[in-house]
Amino acid sequence: MSGILVVAETRAGALRDVSFELVGAGRAVAQAAGVPLQVAVVDAEPERFAEALSAEGVAELLLVRAPAPHFDPRFARTAIEALIAELDPDVVLMGHTVDALGVGPAVAAVGGLGFASDVVALRWEDGLVACRGAYADKLVAELDFPGKPRVLALLRPGAFAPAEAGVQAGAVRELAVAAGEPSVEHAGYREPADDGGVDITKADFLLSIGRGIEDADHLPRFEALAERIGAVLSVSRPLVDAGWASNARQVGQSGKTVAPRVYLALGISGAVQHVAGMRGAGTVIAVNTDPEAPIFNVADYAAVADLFEVADELERLAG
Ligand SMILES: Cc1cc2nc3c(=O)[nH]c(=O)nc-3n(C[C@H](O)[C@H](O)[C@H](O)COP(=O)(O)OP(=O)(O)OC[C@H]3O[C@@H](n4cnc5c(N)ncnc54)[C@H](O)[C@@H]3O)c2cc1C
Repeated sequence: MSGILVVAETRAGALRDVSFELVGAGRAVAQAAGVPLQVAVVDAEPERFAEALSAEGVAELLLVRAPAPHFDPRFARTAIEALIAELDPDVVLMGHTVDALGVGPAVAAVGGLGFASDVVALRWEDGLVACRGAYADKLVAELDFPGKPRVLALLRPGAFAPAEAGVQAGAVRELAVAAGEPSVEHAGYREPADDGGVDITKADFLLSIGRGIEDADHLPRFEALAERIGAVLSVSRPLVDAGWASNARQVGQSGKTVAPRVYLALGISGAVQHVAGMRGAGTVIAVNTDPEAPIFNVADYAAVADLFEVADELERLAG
């Protein structure tokens, strides 16, 4: 047993949130396997992240200095291959992100590693077991990797509990990697339309509405209700498809994975593709007129009720 290697991710000079989720997931696997956790960061100024990434349970932090401040898949691949050669890890964890998708599969294919993308849960059973959706998330597939002494897994952002950032740098060393020729030219960053900066993945309390609200004209009422009860508004996909809400607010397989403390679902049936994005919620409260609605299978509190009547009551209570 050699260890678990987490490859943290940075963008535009900042650590991405998924880095801490990778450290959290890596720490749990390392503890279960009884091996050390090593964390690597590839960046033009990697030392800037040494403190934050030295989270509890991190045995060693490796800094790889990139030749440019922007992601370059060729350099990233060279760096990760150098890290693997240096550390000989059993498991390599990266984010299921647009950057890591440009490098992880290539590292796995060329190196003959076991590989899984979009992983939503991990276990250790004498080897890594990775869980991911199958058949449009109708099933959860559990993958093991017979005959593969080393596995690379890309973890879905938002699906794993993040580690707390470290407070002081532990064992840190720099690994020199030859720069080589750049493979991309960075044209600049453009922020996506973000619905006023809303980030439903960070919300503590989500008021989530579905097709049960019937009409776009009812939307302002739920926006106002969310604000009054201290929740962030999120939606199921049909509301996005209909143009009633922005993609930034969609929960689910093709939307965001959320993990609020409270998820209040009004008029959402609970299709597997929706549940895929909210099964990490703490307490789920579901309101639906249909007693057979599948959302009730994942609800902690279920109300077979008209969502408009529930909204009336919440408005009354909110004063
Ligand atoms: C590849 C793929 C990816 C997808 N990705 C996503 C995704 O990311 N997110 C997502 O949400 N969906 C996704 N979907 C769509 C998903 O399959 C469902 O169609 C969708 O989640 C249904 O949304 P809904 O529950 O709001 O609507 P419906 O299924 O139409 O449910 C509406 C619910 O409201 C209830 N209702 C009606 N009136 C009232 C009332 N007055 N009071 C209380 N309850 C009421 C009904 O009983 C019903 O259960 C995806 C589908 C595919 C194929």
